[in-house]
Amino acid sequence: MELIDGKTLAKNIRKNLKKEVDELKEKGIKPALAVIMVGDDKASKIYVRTKSKACEEIGVEYKEYLLEEDTTMDELLNLIHILNVDKNIHGILLQSPLPKNLDINEAFKEIATEKDVDGFNPINVGKLSLNQDCFISCTPYGIIKMLEEYNIPLEGAHAVIVGRSNIVGKPLMQCLLNKNATVTVCHSKTKNIEQTTKNADILIAALGKPNFIKADMVREGAVVIDVGINRNEEGKIVGDVDFEDVCKKASYITPVPGGVGPMTVAMLMANVVKSAKSRLK
Ligand code: NDP
Repeated sequence: MELIDGKTLAKNIRKNLKKEVDELKEKGIKPALAVIMVGDDKASKIYVRTKSKACEEIGVEYKEYLLEEDTTMDELLNLIHILNVDKNIHGILLQSPLPKNLDINEAFKEIATEKDVDGFNPINVGKLSLNQDCFISCTPYGIIKMLEEYNIPLEGAHAVIVGRSNIVGKPLMQCLLNKNATVTVCHSKTKNIEQTTKNADILIAALGKPNFIKADMVREGAVVIDVGINRNEEGKIVGDVDFEDVCKKASYITPVPGGVGPMTVAMLMANVVKSAKSRLK
């Protein structure tokens, strides 16, 4: 079994991005990311801190917009529209979740496609499904990058994804299809899920259920990617995969933490730099 070291991979990606950022600055472009947060969600605060630290490390300007819990949709869209036309901003990220009175999909729709570094605007979602150049949402993008860095063949491989969310499962399905994998997507209504997961050459768990994937659900020699970030009863961060159990069977496996998480942030940085670079044209 080989551990897929997302932490080190992400560090190397950030190092290379820093060079690109320095070059952009020499050409007069200072890459900048705007992060919008509404309300007081604790987990969101932790996530945005990781993003701000990554920005700082690679020299991207980080601008945070904290809106009150009772912000209206008009106020939120107004801010997005201002940032859309701000020439000094290259990426706009709307941190989820939003308070219940706000419609996140309506908001994603308004983010300018060329600044949509999270890849959640329907235009970018559509372009991904057409296999056209676009911003790919960061977690799927990071997973593909990881698999490629470890020379894990995707073409012809049977990839099974557990979870069909708009931010992980569905875009990952598209990414893997674009790489010529054969993809099966499971969700909460899938019957006999272990029969499907056992057929996977590459198994990706993205359901948000601690230690859900056990060794008897995994084929001997499968590659196992754990997207889950959950807190167990002792308050410890665990993935969706029962690591101790599954690592005996997997050929490659990602740890939690230190696997997909750091790659997600690194690919966000890559998307911001991509957006800034497009200004050179
Ligand atoms: P969502 O809750 O949006 O989606 C969960 C998906 O899992 C749904 O499609 C749901 O099915 C499916 N599911 C739930 N329970 C089961 C079950 N028992 N069997 C099969 N499928 C099931 O979650 P997210 O995609 O946002 O996140 C998933 C996990 O990944 C979370 O732990 C989250 O914290 C983590 N995450 C990690 C990131 C990282 O960078 N490492 C980034 C984003 C998320 P249905 O559609 O039928 O309801």
